Amino acid sequence: MLNQTLILIKPDGLKKSLTGNILTRLSETKLEIVAAKIIRVTPEMAEAHYCHLKEKTFFKELISYLTGELHQRKKVMAMVYWGEDAIQKIREIAGATNPEEASPTSIRGQFGRITTKGLYENVVHASAIESDAEREIKLWFDPDEIIFDLYPTRIVTTGGRKVRVWI
Ligand code: UDP
Ligand code: MG
Repeated sequence: MLNQTLILIKPDGLKKSLTGNILTRLSETKLEIVAAKIIRVTPEMAEAHYCHLKEKTFFKELISYLTGELHQRKKVMAMVYWGEDAIQKIREIAGATNPEEASPTSIRGQFGRITTKGLYENVVHASAIESDAEREIKLWFDPDEIIFDLYPTRIVTTGGRKVRVWI
C-alpha cells in the first residue's frame, strides 16, 4: 500500500554527525523524499509530538532530548518519505525502540545507546502507523513544504496573504 511517514534525525544523530549515514541507510528503501528541513524544536512542539507518552516517567527527559537541550544541539532534521509500504519499510530499517534490542544492522542498533539515566537515545524517529504518520506530518510540515498534497487542504487568508493549511 502507498503511504507516507515522518522521519526525524534526532539531536543525538546530528551531534554524532550521522546525517549522511542515516540518509544512506534510508535510501536503501528506494522510497521518495517528498519533504525535508532542519528545524528548531520548541518544548511545545516536542510535547505535541510525544503527547501519547505524557504519563511516562521519562517524559521530561524525552522532551529535553527532542528539543536538543540534552545534547546542546537545538535542531532536528525532519523528512517525509513516500512510497510502497513506506511506514513499514522505514520502521524496519530504523529498528526497535530500545537500541539494545534493535537489530544490530538497523539504524538504532548501529548508532543508538541507552543513557545512564535509562533514556533510549535512538538517533531517529519514524512513524509507527498511518494515523500517527498523518498526525505527525501535519504537526511538522505545512502543506506548501511538501512536494505534493498528501492530505486535503484549504486556503485561508491571513494578513492579506493566501496560505494553504491542513483541513
Ligand atoms: N523511550 C525511552 N524509553 C522507553 C520508551 C521510549 O527512552 O522505555 C523514548 C525513545 O527515544 C523513543 C521515544 O521515547 O524513541 C518514543 O517512544 P515510542 O514508544 O513512541 O517509540 P518509537 O515509536 O520511537 O519506537
Ligand atoms: Mg512512537
